[in-house]
Amino acid sequence: MIRFVDLGRQYKSIEAEVRPAMDAVLNNTAFILGSPVEAFEREFAAYCGVEHCIGVANGTDALAIACAALDVGPGDEVIVPANTFIATALGASHLGAKIVLVEADETTNLITAEGIAKAITPRTKVVIPVHLFGKPVDIAPIVELCSSKGIAVLEDTAQAHGARYKGKRAGSFGTVSAFSFYPGKNLGAYGDGGAIATNDAALAKKIRLLRDLGQERKYVHTVKGYNSRLDGLQAAVLSVKLRHLDAWNARRREIAARYDKLFAEMGVKTNSASSGESVHHLYCIEVDDRDAVTPILDERKIGWGIHYPTPMHMHPAYADLGYREGDFPLAERWSRRTLSLPMFAEMTDEEVDRVADAVRSAVTVGV
Ligand SMILES: *Cc1c(COP(=O)(O)O)cnc(C)c1O
Repeated sequence: MIRFVDLGRQYKSIEAEVRPAMDAVLNNTAFILGSPVEAFEREFAAYCGVEHCIGVANGTDALAIACAALDVGPGDEVIVPANTFIATALGASHLGAKIVLVEADETTNLITAEGIAKAITPRTKVVIPVHLFGKPVDIAPIVELCSSKGIAVLEDTAQAHGARYKGKRAGSFGTVSAFSFYPGKNLGAYGDGGAIATNDAALAKKIRLLRDLGQERKYVHTVKGYNSRLDGLQAAVLSVKLRHLDAWNARRREIAARYDKLFAEMGVKTNSASSGESVHHLYCIEVDDRDAVTPILDERKIGWGIHYPTPMHMHPAYADLGYREGDFPLAERWSRRTLSLPMFAEMTDEEVDRVADAVRSAVTVGV
């Protein structure tokens, strides 16, 4: 059996480091915020090459609190890719902003400055580019476009911890960026976790208030905040795992390169192209008849996923936006054709070959 993501293997490989780190938190009872969180925030800021990192409860909150700190509210428009995880948009929606979707580039499946430019109006407050599947968006032209118009860029870096664009880390380009440490992410906690990164000291200060009930100090509430704090156990796990992240990402690149070669040989379309150094959070291929491939994967006990089966505008939750089927043909086409294959650092070459073999046999029977 080859799982889609095998977190157990990773745990076994770091158990000896992670257990003492968790025990230390249990012994000093720094359960919420406190020194383990502060240490991780410093380490992760340094890793990303940003001045400030603020730990929060999850990636969805990271996006929401970043939007709140940017004063997103009713009357504002926030630009989001049509093909992303719904969490990219939820925070802005909850603050009363209108979500404006843009189609991604056909080859990279990432949004571009050209696509965004067409969607900008005088009401556009924030653009949220998503480094989808671990692939860095071509972010420099987006930052340039937005800064010329006074629009903030909020990078959704939930899938791209450690990815690089022009030598710098994803999440260090925008006004602010949001990370998720959901267990299956490239850097994942043992529960929920998230972080917000920024080089803007005033914004960082506001975010620190917002994540902790708006408290300047205990019971002194200067803004209407959220309860969205990273906990000490998660921070301790994340500090241990951060030390392995580059090696894990390097192994993901090897796996992706092996997949790329095998699929190129069999003429199967892959989705590895990006504008920088991907960390391959997901490995996606495109097939004409997905329903003919997945039973073969199931039969051979190989995990798979679909990212994402429903484009943003087709979610019942976003029916209020008034979009219709056909409005984002590329995102719709992608949602019907994409198939994500097992991808995690502990996969062996032999397993990669077995996955590719399964796809090959599906393709040869005429898929
Ligand atoms: C995982 C993810 C999120 C949300 O993170 P959670 O920690 O699960 O709340 C947001 N955006 C993208 C692109 C994601 O993949």
